[in-house]
Amino acid sequence: MKILVTGGAGFIGSAVVRRIIEHSDYEVVNVDKLTYAGNLDSIQLIADDPRYIFEQADICSLEVMNRVFAEHQPDVIMHLAAESHVDRSIDGPMDFIQTNIIGTYTLLEAARFYYSQLGEEKQRNFKFHHISTDEVYGDLDDTRALFTEETAYDPSSPYSASKASSDHLVRAWHRTYGLPVVVTNCSNNYGPFHFPEKLIPLMILNALEGKQLPVYGDGQQIRDWLYVEDHASALLQVATQGKIGETYNIGGLNEKTNLEVVTHICELLQELEPSLPSGISHYKELITFVEDRPGHDLRYAIDASKLERELGWEPTETFESGLKKTVIWFLENKEWWSRVLDGSYQLERLGQSTK
Ligand code: NAD
Repeated sequence: MKILVTGGAGFIGSAVVRRIIEHSDYEVVNVDKLTYAGNLDSIQLIADDPRYIFEQADICSLEVMNRVFAEHQPDVIMHLAAESHVDRSIDGPMDFIQTNIIGTYTLLEAARFYYSQLGEEKQRNFKFHHISTDEVYGDLDDTRALFTEETAYDPSSPYSASKASSDHLVRAWHRTYGLPVVVTNCSNNYGPFHFPEKLIPLMILNALEGKQLPVYGDGQQIRDWLYVEDHASALLQVATQGKIGETYNIGGLNEKTNLEVVTHICELLQELEPSLPSGISHYKELITFVEDRPGHDLRYAIDASKLERELGWEPTETFESGLKKTVIWFLENKEWWSRVLDGSYQLERLGQSTK
C-alpha cells in the first residue's frame, strides 16, 4: 500500500510519516510545501528509507497535485497540510484561507479526477482521510459536556473557521461526487518535534532560558491533550480501517487548564533540570499572566468513545507520562530546537524536490 501524506514535515505529519516507515511495510509519499512549520529535521531518521519519497509541493496548485497523483498512484491520502497556529490566524488570516480552504478544495479536485481514472479494485480500496481539529466545535460552557461527532460546528477563530470550512468541503465531495472520505477531529496534541511557538514547547524552552512564561488571561482555559504518537496511531488506524463517510473524534480524556499545564512543566523541569537559570529558585516564578487572546475558547473536551468502540483504538500515554516524555525529549534534543530557534532548519528547504 502507498500512502500520500500532505504536511508530513509538520509536527503531526512527521509523526505519521515516521510511524508508517517504522511500524508498517507501506510506502509513503510526503507532499509538503515546507512553510516555516515544515522541518525536514523531524523526518531525518527515516529519510533514507527506500519506502519514503519527498515532494516539495504546494497543495494549492492543481497542476502539481494532478502530476503528483498520476506519478505516485497512491492508495490512501492522509491530508494534514494546513496553517495551524491560532495566534497567527488572528494576526493574518489570508494564509489560512488559502491553504486550509483553497488547498483542501484543490486536493479534493485532484483526488476526484485521480479516483475517476482508477480501476474497480483500486477504487474499492481508495480513501481520502481529512485530518482536522476539535476547535471546529467552538467551546463548551457546561463543565460536563463533551464534543461528539454529532456536535454542531461553531468555530471561533479564523483558524478553526478555515478548518470547519475544509471539513464541510470534504463531506460535500463525498455526498456530491462519491469520493470515499473519512474525517477525524482531534484535541490538542503535544510531544517531540513540536514547533516552539505552541504552548508546551514554548514554555519548556522559555523556562530553560530563564524567560517569562506568558499565560493568557487567568490561565483557566481548558484543553484536552493527546500525545502526538497516540494521535498518529489513531490516524493510521482510521486511514486503513475507518468506514467511508464516517467521522471519528480523537482525544485522550486529559482535560487540563493552561495554568495546570504550565505549572506541571515547571515541576517536571525542577525535577529533571535542577540547575536553574540565575535569579530564580523555582521555574514557577517565571509564570506571568498576559492579556487574553480575542475570541479565546474556554473549554474543549472530546468524546473519543466511537473510535475506541468501533476500531479498538486507545491512547497509550496519560497526560503525566506523555508530558514527562516530552520534557525529557526537549532536554535531550537541543540540536533539533536550536536549529528551529536560529532558523537554520529552513536553509535546506530550497532546491529540495524528490529524493
Ligand atoms: P504544522 O503547522 O506543524 O504542520 C503543517 C505542515 O503543513 C507543515 O509541514 C507545512 O510546511 C505544511 N503546509 C502548510 N501549507 C502547505 C501547503 N500549502 N502545501 C503543502 N504543505 C503545506 O501542523 P500540525 O500541528 O502538524 O497539524 C497537522 C494537521 O492536524 C492540521 O491539519 C491541523 O489542523 C490538524 N490538527 C492539529 C492539532 C494540533 O494540536 N497541532 C490538533 C488537531 C488537528
